[in-house]
Amino acid sequence: MLGEWLATARRVVVFTGAGISTESGIPDFRSPQGIWAQFKPIQFSDFIASEESRRESWRRKFIIDHDMRVARPNRGHRAVQALVARGQCICVITQNIDGLHQVSGITESHLVELHGNGTYAKCLECGHRHELAPIEHAFTGRGELPHCLICGGLVKAATISFGQTMPTTAIQRADEACQNCDLFLVLGSSLVVYPAATFPLRAKRNGARLIIINREPTPQDAHADLVLHGEIGPTLGAAIDVF
Ligand code: NAD
Repeated sequence: MLGEWLATARRVVVFTGAGISTESGIPDFRSPQGIWAQFKPIQFSDFIASEESRRESWRRKFIIDHDMRVARPNRGHRAVQALVARGQCICVITQNIDGLHQVSGITESHLVELHGNGTYAKCLECGHRHELAPIEHAFTGRGELPHCLICGGLVKAATISFGQTMPTTAIQRADEACQNCDLFLVLGSSLVVYPAATFPLRAKRNGARLIIINREPTPQDAHADLVLHGEIGPTLGAAIDVF
């Protein structure tokens, strides 16, 4: 049924979570081996208020970054890219911050990053982009925390932390995609992080078919037209002949 529905869909929206990147070696958050088994999240307000939190946040970032730097797109990413290249997928909405959809060949015009991007950093005051390599060098070598070279503001990874305002344009683009799709495909998300988790049901209410591929059950399984509790790469790859 997955292959048949994907073959006949004309305006697919793909919604990805950390689960699409576990086959690339990046742990997700909520699986037993996930990042949260190791670290509790740092709230945005704590990052702003406390040097200790900022130090802890950068320390963790450089531990997690090791997995991200060596990761390559897997069969699941390639299958999603194929749907875009075939002109069937109008938008990929991702909660991921690893940049692997871009590496697989999906351009910004077809991609919405709801939670930002962890492959670079940004000044929280003026928005200036900062590369991670010099930040890591100064932090690990001299214990220095980064400040903006332009305005002196606090610099943070360009990801959205808990308690941080979501990017307005990304939310708008995701919302529009949900209004215009005929099939909404969830890949590897526990669907418990809001507002991101509102998008599958918005698309469903607008008349789209909802398909969920996730190892474990999600709170939205009962609303889906098809639920597959399997691995994303083999499941989606086989359905659309991508290897
Ligand atoms: P999550 O960790 O809450 O859920 C991931 C889900 O994917 C789980 O339900 C798990 O069962 C499933 N899963 C894992 N590997 C799978 C596979 N190979 N095939 C099928 N299912 C698989 O992740 P989430 O829903 O994306 O939400 C948590 C937040 O995690 C997001 O905001 C995201 O920014 C952040 N995050 C991102 C990355 C990344 O960029 N790769 C990694 C960890 C966390």
